[in-house]
Amino acid sequence: MSSNSIIEIENVSYRYDNLWVLENINLQIEKGSFVGIVGPNGSGKSTLLKIILGLLKPQKGTIRLFGVEQQKFKEWDRIGYVSQKANSFNSAFPATVFEVVASGLTKKTGLFKFIGKEGKKAVLQAIRAVGMEAFMNRNIGELSGGQQQRVFIARALVSQPELLILDEPTVGVDVQNVQSFYNMLEELNQKWGITLLLVSHDVGTITTKVSHVACLNKSLHFHGKTTEFEQCKDKNLSMFYGHDVHLLSHEHEVHQEGVNV
Ligand code: ADP
Repeated sequence: MSSNSIIEIENVSYRYDNLWVLENINLQIEKGSFVGIVGPNGSGKSTLLKIILGLLKPQKGTIRLFGVEQQKFKEWDRIGYVSQKANSFNSAFPATVFEVVASGLTKKTGLFKFIGKEGKKAVLQAIRAVGMEAFMNRNIGELSGGQQQRVFIARALVSQPELLILDEPTVGVDVQNVQSFYNMLEELNQKWGITLLLVSHDVGTITTKVSHVACLNKSLHFHGKTTEFEQCKDKNLSMFYGHDVHLLSHEHEVHQEGVNV
């Protein structure tokens, strides 16, 4: 196993009651990579993320985080997580962008404690990283879904994690803003050096950006570099969607036909 792996998943299986939803998953996430886990609805993507985050305990297999067995792992600040629930944020909540991002520091400072000069600097840096500096004093409720999602990512970034995990981050993002949203993620990965792991059912857009793809449908059907995935895309997709899939490539985006993913 590579010493560069920051997540190592070995022979992991998971069941809810009697229903096995993940079977014998083996997956390594390399430091510095941008990994997209793709699969149809109900394929086990969120479950796998919850297992990585220690929120669910698999009945079989082992997980290592930053080289440490998950049960012994304590440095959770190294991992940032933006859940799907961020999309259903109550937009009437009376807080500015700055305050929402600063709330990501409360793990360290305690709620409503003075965040100090260093904390303020970290908040500003996180807001800048997601390109939201012009909206810093705006109320979170006044922003679009995509802008809110950037703010939630900034909140996860404020404690300066090395790995950022995102569950379906583009669900609330307007179609015309999806590309610039992915550009922002690419910049987090390439300019800020953050390892990114995201799950999505949107295989078309995601594969234009990520460095590695993992195709999940209960078991892992493909895991490797995006370039390798592209070489046998139709085969990879039909294998886990169960029928032929045709992808039409355009200059800046990829549309899908014939499959509901
Ligand atoms: P995805 O994120 O790919 O949509 P999930 O991980 O949410 O998939 O779900 C995988 C399977 O597990 C689905 O069949 C889903 O119905 C089932 N499932 C998810 N959460 C629970 C739960 N809390 N209890 C029972 N079954 C669940």
